[in-house]
Amino acid sequence: MFGLMQNQPLLISSIIEFAQRHHGDGEVVSRRVEGDIHRSNWAQIALRSKRVAHGLDAWKLQSGDRIATLAWNGYRHLELYFGVSGSGRVLHTINPRLHPDQVAWIINHAQDQVLAFDMTFLPIIQAVHSKCPTVQHWIALCDADKLPADSGIPNLVSYEAWVKPFPETYVWPKFDENTASSMCYTSGTTGNPKAALYSHRSTILHAYAAALPDVMCISARDAILPVVPMFHVNAWGIPYSAAMTGSKLVFPGAAMDGKSIYELIESEGVTFAAGVPTVWQMMLSHMKPHGLKFTKLNRTVIGGSACPPAMITAFKDDYGVDVLHAWGMTELSPLGTLCTLKNKHLSLPEAEQMKIRLKQGRAIFGIDMKIVDDAGNEQPHDGKAYGDLLVKGPWVVADYYHGEGGSPLVQDANGEGWFPTGDVATIDADGYMQITDRSKDVIKSGGEWISSIDIENIAMSHAGVLMAACVGIKHPKWDERPIVVVVKKPDAQFSREELLKYYEGKTAKWQIPDDVVFVESIPLGATGKMLKTKLREQLKDYVLPTL
Ligand code: ADP
Repeated sequence: MFGLMQNQPLLISSIIEFAQRHHGDGEVVSRRVEGDIHRSNWAQIALRSKRVAHGLDAWKLQSGDRIATLAWNGYRHLELYFGVSGSGRVLHTINPRLHPDQVAWIINHAQDQVLAFDMTFLPIIQAVHSKCPTVQHWIALCDADKLPADSGIPNLVSYEAWVKPFPETYVWPKFDENTASSMCYTSGTTGNPKAALYSHRSTILHAYAAALPDVMCISARDAILPVVPMFHVNAWGIPYSAAMTGSKLVFPGAAMDGKSIYELIESEGVTFAAGVPTVWQMMLSHMKPHGLKFTKLNRTVIGGSACPPAMITAFKDDYGVDVLHAWGMTELSPLGTLCTLKNKHLSLPEAEQMKIRLKQGRAIFGIDMKIVDDAGNEQPHDGKAYGDLLVKGPWVVADYYHGEGGSPLVQDANGEGWFPTGDVATIDADGYMQITDRSKDVIKSGGEWISSIDIENIAMSHAGVLMAACVGIKHPKWDERPIVVVVKKPDAQFSREELLKYYEGKTAKWQIPDDVVFVESIPLGATGKMLKTKLREQLKDYVLPTL
C-alpha cells in the first residue's frame, strides 16, 4: 500500500522559488572581481536565474547539456547555480586553480557546451578555448561595457548583455528528481580527475542535512560567508541550504587573503563561515598582530584537511568562536561527518571536550559508515582499531561520470555497495570518526602505523610553526621513518633540535620524527590542501640523518 501524500519531485528550482516567495529580501552580498561590494537579495537572484534559464532555452540547449563555470563565489555564479540546474541542464563547476591543460581536459571530458567565466580567468580561457571544440558559447561574467574588444575568444558575450533581453518570469520544468543537476571533478591528486555527477534529489537531501543543528545549523538568523569555493563541490552545499533557510549570504569574490576575509566578516556581520584550514591560518595570522576581534562570528566549519588542534583552540580561546570540524569528499556532495558534542559531553571538562572536537565527527543521518581491514572485515568501534573507511548514502556517488574501469563501489555480503573513501580512520563507541591518514600517505614503521596527521598536529601546536607536513622516508630497517617538513612563522626562532624535543611526551618515542626539514613553503593543490605527492618529489634526494 502506498502512502497518500503528494509525490512532488525534489527539484533545485523549488528551492529558489521558495526563497523568492518566503524570504525574497534576504541579502546576498558579493565582493566583485572589480573590487566593489554588490548588494542583491534572494528575490533578485531568483528573477535573474529565470533570465539565465531563458537564455539557455534561446540557445536551444537540451536537458542534460553541460554548462560550465570558471568563477569565484559571487551573485552571478549563484544565479547560474539555479538557472542552469533549475532548467534541467547540468552545472559543471571547474576549479580555476588547475593547470590550463587540466582545465581543457576536463572541459573536453565533460563535453561542455557553454562556459561562463570571471574576467580574472580570461588568460586561462585564452589558453584553452581553441582546444575545446564542444564549447559553442563563451560568457564573460561582467557588464557589457567591461567586455574586452580584443579578447580573441569567438562570439564572447557579457553575462549582463546576454540575460538582459529575457523576462523575469519562467515556468520551471518538472522532471524526475534523479535527473543530473551538477558535476564536479575530483582534484585528481592520483591520475586523471574523475567527475561526481550530482542529482536534484541528492542535492536537496544534502541541503536539508547540511542545515541540521548537529551539522552546520544554518538558519534565517545567520549571515554566512562561504570561503569554500563554489567551484569545488558546490561550496559544501551552502548556496542551496542558504536559499532553503533564508540566511544572508556573503561572497568573498577573488579576495581570499586574511585581511579581506576578516574585513568582510566584520562589515557584513557574518555569524558563520566555512573554509579549509589554510584560509583560516592566513586570517588568524593577520588578526593576531593587529589585536583584532570578531563582533558577530560565532562558529566556523573547517574541513577539507585535518584541522590542527592549535587552530581550534585559537578560535575558541582568543576569539570565542566554535570550530566545527567536518569531513567530506567530492564524492559525498561533500558532507560526511561533522563534529558536534552530545548532551552527555557538555558536563565534561574543557580538555576532555577538546579531545572529541578534534575528531572529524559523527555521521550525518543519510551517511552510513564503517571501517574494514585489508580482508574487508569490519573493525570494532572502539576508537582504537583503524581501517579503510567505507561509506554509503543517497548523496554518495554510485559511479563516476563516463567512468572507466567499472563501479568504484565495494559490495558487502548483502550485496550493498559501499564507497571506499581512501581514508584510514577509527570510529569510537559514540560514533565519532577520526581520520588518521589518507591511505596513500600512511607511514608504516617497524610494522606499526604512524598517523601523519598526529605528527603534523603536534608541530602545529608549536608557537613558531606556520605549516607542517609529515611524510614517510624509506628506511632499510624500519621500512619507513617519519620526518616533518615545516614552514616557520615570520620571525620565529627555533631549531630542529628544539622542535624534536618539543615532541617528547606528546607522542610515543618511536613515533617522534627522525628529522625536521625547514622549507619556505609547502606545495598546495587546487583546493588548498598540502600536496604530499609533490612534496615527496621535492624530497627525492633527501637522506635521513639517522642512516
Ligand atoms: P580529492 O578527493 O580530490 O582529494 P576532495 O576535496 O574530495 O578532493 O578531498 C577529500 C579528502 O580530503 C578526504 O578523503 C580526506 O582525505 C580529506 N579530508 C577532508 N576533510 C578532512 C578532515 N576534516 N580531516 C582530514 N582529512 C580530510
